[in-house]
Amino acid sequence: MNGKIAFIPGDGIGPEVAAPAAAVLDAAGALFGHVFHRAELPAGGRAVDETGVPLPPETLEEAKRCDAVFLGAVGGPKWDDLPVNLRPERALLDIRRELGVFVNLRPVSLAAPLRSVCPLKDEILSAGGPGGKPVFDFLIVRELTGGIYFGARGRSEDGSSAWDTESYSRPEIERVLEAAYAAAAERRKKVCVVDKANVLESSRLWRETALRMSGSCPGIETSFLYVDNAAMQLIRAPGSFDVIVTSNMFGDILSDEASALTGSIGMLPSASLAGVPGRRPGPARPLMGIYEPIHGSAPDIAGKDIANPLGAVLSAAMMLRYSFGLEKEAAAVEAAVNSVLEKGYRTADISGRGGKERLAGTREMGEAVVQALEEQA
Ligand code: NAD
Repeated sequence: MNGKIAFIPGDGIGPEVAAPAAAVLDAAGALFGHVFHRAELPAGGRAVDETGVPLPPETLEEAKRCDAVFLGAVGGPKWDDLPVNLRPERALLDIRRELGVFVNLRPVSLAAPLRSVCPLKDEILSAGGPGGKPVFDFLIVRELTGGIYFGARGRSEDGSSAWDTESYSRPEIERVLEAAYAAAAERRKKVCVVDKANVLESSRLWRETALRMSGSCPGIETSFLYVDNAAMQLIRAPGSFDVIVTSNMFGDILSDEASALTGSIGMLPSASLAGVPGRRPGPARPLMGIYEPIHGSAPDIAGKDIANPLGAVLSAAMMLRYSFGLEKEAAAVEAAVNSVLEKGYRTADISGRGGKERLAGTREMGEAVVQALEEQA
């Protein structure tokens, strides 16, 4: 396989976590006989500094010519006072919209070696979990190119009032639900639709659409939760969830909450896809995706070589799986991550200061994953 990746390291810790992800992709390529070409492109704050805009047209054009996009993270205090359309984060919204990546997959699971940094008690972890074991493993399916982040917004003339609009069409909801049901079919066959249908009309449309679709998905259990209750159930019984499907803003917030259960936001990967996985158009036309850890640019720890690169590395594994159809290679990267955790490697954010732990910086953690991958040869 000869793949081409638009590689956007971004700002803050973005380049620090992107480097290990690139090294792991190279190692996976060498191990399994693939070549992944990387076109390094500016976006975010770096692009504002270099070109005056957060998403230069050249970056977008090149990204469209590639098979997939990898993104570290963008943003930082240096650019916080810019007008909203020039802020680095604007690049994320624009590239998602332009590449049509409407669904965002965020797997959330507790790696067994990280049990000690999960803040929940054993009895909570066991509640509703698969086989009553103290683990959880669920997938958040988030709508990505609609809702309040893209709706009309404004201010009154005197600036004393402001509004943002949550708006969804049925087709926008249907395609995300379709991705959720497809994912559930490969997992534990449960879909939980999270909304605020007791208050919001747009949520009522989500619920109505899900009820209709559930009728044509036999064998998959559909349930509904209001978002406030869902936020609570994630803490009370994370093991009860399989696939959570929800709107752009609810998914954004719930996945940060969920990340805390895994020990650190630095552990969580994501894939934003332009189609439903499993219904790929075929090897000749890969499924376009943007792959990025769910965390931001973490200016508080940037430049210190202490950021956790595993969310970025696991995002690269998702790229292998969804955009390149390389399941064996993706699983090998995930196994390598698990192996370094089992060996005791810990970045500071996931360190429980246990006896067999080995505190590692960003670079050392990346090198350990590459080595674990090479050991599989
Ligand atoms: P953040 O995710 O950057 O950081 C939140 C906290 O988590 C910080 O304490 C940080 O040190 C820690 N953290 C984050 N990633 C980590 C990692 N890999 N290893 C260890 N610790 C990690 O969120 P924030 O502070 O709200 O935002 C900082 C900047 O990032 C802002 O400019 C924001 O707009 C931007 N942002 C970008 C993205 C993106 O590029 N996709 C996402 C969210 C926020």
